Amino acid sequence: MSVQHDPVQRADFDQVMVPNYAPAGFIPVRGAGSRVWDQSGRELIDFTGGIAVNALGHCHPALVAALTEQANTLWHISNVFTNEPALRLAHKLVDATFAERAFFCNSGAEANEAAFKLARRVAFDRFGEDKYEIIAATNSFHGRTLFTVSVGGQPKYSDGFGPKIQGINHVPYNDIEALKAAVSARTCAVVLEPIQGEGGVLPADLAYLQAARELCDQHDALLIFDEVQTGMGRSGSLFAYQHYGVIPDILSSAKSLGGGFPIGAMLTTEALAKHLVVGTHGTTYGGNPLACAVAEAVIDVVNTPAVLDGVKAKRQRFKVALEQFGEQYGVFSQVRGLGLLIGAVLSDAWKGKAKAILDAAAAEGVMVLQAGPDVVRFAPSLVVEEVDIDEGLARFERALAKLTQA
Ligand SMILES: *Cc1c(COP(=O)(O)O)cnc(C)c1O
Repeated sequence: MSVQHDPVQRADFDQVMVPNYAPAGFIPVRGAGSRVWDQSGRELIDFTGGIAVNALGHCHPALVAALTEQANTLWHISNVFTNEPALRLAHKLVDATFAERAFFCNSGAEANEAAFKLARRVAFDRFGEDKYEIIAATNSFHGRTLFTVSVGGQPKYSDGFGPKIQGINHVPYNDIEALKAAVSARTCAVVLEPIQGEGGVLPADLAYLQAARELCDQHDALLIFDEVQTGMGRSGSLFAYQHYGVIPDILSSAKSLGGGFPIGAMLTTEALAKHLVVGTHGTTYGGNPLACAVAEAVIDVVNTPAVLDGVKAKRQRFKVALEQFGEQYGVFSQVRGLGLLIGAVLSDAWKGKAKAILDAAAAEGVMVLQAGPDVVRFAPSLVVEEVDIDEGLARFERALAKLTQA
């Protein structure tokens, strides 16, 4: 049975949508693996992964099966009841990580909101009302709610919306001395992305994360890792903290967790979780059976040596090619990141031109991302096929060749 829809085009966006996005000129209508087709039938290779969301590409059979089965079983039941997919997913996350408890929500921002509220509540319960300061990194990104833009260190996202959440301190990323100077008895939490994603695919130094862990322990503060972008296999480990060997107290996950179905999770220990007693926090959709069934299928596929080792091998394929393009065309000065979160840093001559490269790439049939104006970002499916990597990189090279000739 097929449903008849009225035809719509890109121009409709400007007629009916709030203009807070500037989507590309074409509309993708179908995806399979790492390929996408637009309304005109043009095929593109997808190196964006829905911004590090489609961990298993488009319409992965295991996810389609999990979603379809759950869609025919139970959609929503609210948190007045619990449900089997949520409990199974929580078990899997707890078994695979430092965490002992999970809280489910619907996005990365909500996972961080829960993390920040938990950190403040723990400090309030244990040490009283003066311990509420959150230390975050300049240029970090934690989501778009008022609390999370206040914590994120980017004024362009937080200015102009009235008073911000108070008690947040920003320090330069990867600067141990600055962090040391900022942490005090008033600090309830330090929050860091193990790799700054939106901030330019900038990985933390191991010594920095280790120092953050020590400083938190010395000052009775909690260490929160925002792994919304780095988690669920993206780094080549299930979570990036496992790559670094530095264990947080609270971890937020979303994006790849659902492989394209909206879900977020806040993971923590039993001792901390117990501070969120009945009634202190919640969300209607959190732990929704559809979302949890899909996320369970994602973790089943991703948390295997085949996929995680594959991420490291595929990274090499990207890195070698991108470094070569960087030299040949003079566009990149460095290729950084971890696993399949890759940032090609623009050379001085190309600074500020990430968007132009994105557009040129799309014109050649390959979708890539930017991470700020100076970094071209790749966040493909973790199971992207080698033929798709090679074909996508060939298209990307054609875009660079045209741009640099012009
Ligand atoms: C995308 C992102 C978020 C926000 O997630 P949403 O699902 O958009 O709310 C938070 N933190 C990091 C590190 C992200 O990359």
